[in-house]
Amino acid sequence: MDLEPPLSYGHGICRPRGFAKDPLVKTVPAIEALHPEMTEWRRDFHRHPELSFEETRTAGLVAQRLRDFGLDPVEGIGKTGVAAVIDSGKPGPSLALRADMDALPMDDRGGKDWHSHTAGVAHTCGHDGHTAALLGVARHLAAHPPASGRVVLIFQPAEENGLGARAMIDDGLLDRFPFDEVYAFHNMPLLAPGQAGVRTGPTLNGYIVWEIAVEGVGGHGAAFFKATDPLQAAARLAAEISSIVGRYLDPAESGLITVCSLQAGHSHNVIPAHATLSGTMRALKPEVMELLYQRLETACRGVAELTGCTIACKRLAEVPPCVNAPEGADRAAAACAEVLGEGAVIRDHPPFPFTDDFALFLEAAPGAYLFLGQESAMCHNPAYDFDDALLPVAASIFTTLVRQRLGYAGTHARSVAPPST
Ligand SMILES: [Zn+2]
Ligand SMILES: [Zn+2]
Repeated sequence: MDLEPPLSYGHGICRPRGFAKDPLVKTVPAIEALHPEMTEWRRDFHRHPELSFEETRTAGLVAQRLRDFGLDPVEGIGKTGVAAVIDSGKPGPSLALRADMDALPMDDRGGKDWHSHTAGVAHTCGHDGHTAALLGVARHLAAHPPASGRVVLIFQPAEENGLGARAMIDDGLLDRFPFDEVYAFHNMPLLAPGQAGVRTGPTLNGYIVWEIAVEGVGGHGAAFFKATDPLQAAARLAAEISSIVGRYLDPAESGLITVCSLQAGHSHNVIPAHATLSGTMRALKPEVMELLYQRLETACRGVAELTGCTIACKRLAEVPPCVNAPEGADRAAAACAEVLGEGAVIRDHPPFPFTDDFALFLEAAPGAYLFLGQESAMCHNPAYDFDDALLPVAASIFTTLVRQRLGYAGTHARSVAPPST
C-alpha cells in the first residue's frame, strides 16, 4: 500500500468516529460481546509484530486459540500459515475466510500504549486487526456452526512480500482445505468509518517486481572507447522503460512501470563492469501485465544490441490482479449492507492501486476482496494504527456472510442490535 490513490473515494455516507455505536450499524450481538477480547488479541499482536514468514509467535497464538475454541488447526502450511475447518457435517458449499498476519519492516510511530516492542518492525497495515477479527469469527462459529457446508479459516503469512499465498498453495492448501468461495477484507483509511467498498471485477492491481542486470567491460573513464559501458546502457534503458506505457499501452487500459533503482559505479574515473536496474509494474489485467513485461524484455534486447552489453531481465515476484467474481461481490455486499446499512456499501468505487496476493485465492475460487473504512493515517504510514472499533464490524460482516450462505443451525436466532439511545 505504497501509492496515493488517483481519485477521491470520499463519496457516499460519512460517519463520525465511533461508528460501531452508530444506530445504523447492526453488529451481531454475540460478536459485539467478543469486542474486548478481540481488542486484547489485536493489541498483543501489535506489540509483537513479525515480518513475512517469521510469524511464528503470531501463528502459534492463532493455533492455540483455535484449539481453545475446540477446533483442530493445522500449522506450518507455507512455512508459518495456519488453517482450520468448521464443519456443519451437512452437505453444502465450503466458504473460506482469509486473514493476513505479517507486519512491515518500519518503525511504529503510532504512540499508543500497545506500540511495537520490536525495533524496526510494525503492524502498520492492520494485519493485526485482520487476524484478531477472524479469530473472533472462529470463536463464534466454533460454538454456533452453520446449518450446512463448511467454513475454512485461512491465516496467511507473508502478504507484504507477495509470497505467502503462493507458499500455502504450493504446500497443498487447496487440496487439504478445499473451498468453493473465498473472501477477505482490508481496512481502508481512504473510506470513511462505516463505509464498505465492494467492486465487481478488478479491484486491486497485480504487480511484477523486475530486476535487470547489465554486464559490460569496465575501464578508464578517459578511454571509454576501449570499454563497453554498462552505465550508459542502464541510463538508456531507464529512459526507454519510462516510455513504454506512453507508447505501447492502449490509453483506455490501466498500467504503470516505474524504475525505482539504478545502481552503477563507485568512482569518478572508472567505468564499471556492471549495472543493475529494478522496479515495479502494475496493472488491473494479467494481459496488460504481460504486454508491459514483453516490452521490457524488448527494450533490454534493443539496448543490448545498441551498446554491446549483455542484458538479462528477470521477475523477482509476481502477483496477479485481485478480481472479484460478480456473485462473490454481490454476496459480500449483501453481508456489508445487513451490518452497515444499504447506503453505506459503495459498489462503484475506482480500483485501488495497491496489490494483495489474496488474488491467488480468487483465481482458485470465486469470491471477493472488500474494503472497510476506518479513520487513521494511511496504511504503511509510521503513525498508522488499526482502529479497534472495526473489529466487531468486520467480524459481524464475515459471520453474516456465513449465515447468509450456509444458514444457521442453532437456536441462537440472529437478533438485531437494540436501537442506540
Ligand atoms: Zn501492506
Ligand atoms: Zn495490508
